[in-house]
Amino acid sequence: MDNIELNHKSVWLGAKKTLANELPPRTFSTWFEPISPIAINDNELVLEVPSQFFFEWIENRYRDTIETAVKEQLKKDITVKYTIAASGAVGNTIEQNTKDDAYNGEKKYRKTAINENYTFSNYIEGANNQFAKAAALSVAESPGEKSFNPLTVYGGVGLGKTHLLHAIGNRLLANNNNYNIICASSEKFTLDFISGIQKSKTIEFSKFYRRADVLLIDDIQFFQGKEQTQEQFFHTFNELYQTGKQIVLTADKYPGDMKGLDERLLSRFNSGLAVDIQPPDFETRVAILLEKAEQNGLSLPYAMIEFMATHIKNNIRELESTIIRVLAYSSLTNMEINEELVKKVVKERLGQRFVSEITIEDIVRRISEVTSISEEHIVGKSRKMEYVEARQMAAYLCREILGASLSSIGLYFGGRDHTTILHACNNIANKLKTNKRIKQIVSSIGSELSATTL
Ligand code: ADP
Ligand code: MG
Repeated sequence: MDNIELNHKSVWLGAKKTLANELPPRTFSTWFEPISPIAINDNELVLEVPSQFFFEWIENRYRDTIETAVKEQLKKDITVKYTIAASGAVGNTIEQNTKDDAYNGEKKYRKTAINENYTFSNYIEGANNQFAKAAALSVAESPGEKSFNPLTVYGGVGLGKTHLLHAIGNRLLANNNNYNIICASSEKFTLDFISGIQKSKTIEFSKFYRRADVLLIDDIQFFQGKEQTQEQFFHTFNELYQTGKQIVLTADKYPGDMKGLDERLLSRFNSGLAVDIQPPDFETRVAILLEKAEQNGLSLPYAMIEFMATHIKNNIRELESTIIRVLAYSSLTNMEINEELVKKVVKERLGQRFVSEITIEDIVRRISEVTSISEEHIVGKSRKMEYVEARQMAAYLCREILGASLSSIGLYFGGRDHTTILHACNNIANKLKTNKRIKQIVSSIGSELSATTL
C-alpha cells in the first residue's frame, strides 16, 4: 500500500516539474497546483481536481499536455482519470478515525466530511425545492424523531441534493448537540468497505458507520449492482434505523424506480419519506444567480443575470459555473466583465444549442405578422377579442420559448400583472387542445423560433 502511495505521488510530482517548465507560471499555479494524485495502477493514474468546472477546463485545454508529462515519467502508456473532490471535505479515512479514537478515548468523534459552504441559509428556495428543503430542515432540527426516516431526497443532476444533505449536517453541527454525524457518498462507503476487506479491517468499517447518530449518504444510485456493498449497507441501515438514528439519502431518481438494488434495501428506503427536487423556474434561477454572484464577489447588472437565467435552465451547477467561468475568463484574459463577455460565456456553455437570441419583441413581431394585428394592439390595452387572443398567444410563447418570468412578460405587455399573464398562458394551453387555428399559429411560430434558440 505504501509503495503504491509513493508511486502516484512521485509520478505526479515528476510530471508537475515538467509542466512547470512548460507552462506560464500563472497558468501552472492556477490549474496545476490544486490537483492532487489519488491512485495509480498499471493502466491509470487518478488525479483529484477541486470542481466540475476545473475538470472541464483541464479536460478541454490540458488533457494531452498532462498525459504526455505523465507518460514521460512512467516511460509507458497510461490513461489519466479525474475525480472531483467533495469540496471542503475533511476526508477522513477509517484508519485515521480509529487511531483518533484510540488516542482520545473520551472525546467523541466529531470530524466529518461536511462541506461547510453548503448551508440552509444559502440554499435558495423556490417552488421546485420547497418541500425537500422543509423536510431536510425538519430532520436537521429533530433527527430520528419523525416519520421522516429515512429521508430520501431525489432529483436530476446539479439540482441541489448534495447541498441539502450537507446543509443538514451543518445545521446539526451548529446546534451542537454532540451527535456523531457521518456524511459520505455511496462511493466513499463502497471504497471504505473495499479497503476494509483489503486490510482485513471489516469490523472497523462496520463499527465506524454504525456509530453514527445521523448517517448522511449521497448518491445511493451508485449502490446499484454492488451486491456486497449493499449487503453491508443493509446491515448498517437496519442497526441505525432500529435504534432510532436518522438516515438521510440522496438519489438521482425515485428509489422505487432504481434497478439493481436489493428488494430489502428498496423497501427500507421506501419506508420513510421521499421528496423530489425539480429544475428551478425562472425566478428561482435569477435568485440563485444573484446569490452566487455575490458569493463570488461579482457584481453583474441585472440584465446579464436575466440573460443567463433565460438560457441556462436545467442545472444549478451550470448556472454557478457560468458565473465562475465569467470570472475566470475575465481574470485570465484581462477582459472587463461586460455584456459581450457574459454572452460569449453563455454561448460557449450552450454550444450548438445556442444559435441566436430571441427576445419578447421578436415573438410579438411574428405574432403580428401572422395575425395581421399591429404590435401596438398586441401589447395595448384594448379588450377586443381578436387582440386579446393574439396577446395571449404572444405571452404564452414568451413563457414557452424564452422561459421569461410572468412579471417580465406582464411588464412588456402594457404593465399587466403576473396573474393576468398566468391566466393568458393557461387559457392558450387549454385552447391548444381544441382550437385548430390557435394550435397552428402557436406551433408554427414556436418551432420556427425554437429552432434558432435553445
Ligand atoms: P446535486 O447533488 O443535485 O447534483 P448539488 O447539490 O451539487 O447538486 O448542487 C450543484 C451546485 O448548485 C452546488 O454548488 C450548490 O451549492 C448549488 N445549488 C443547488 N441548489 C441550490 C439552491 N437552491 N440555492 C443555492 N445554490 C444551489
Ligand atoms: Mg450531488
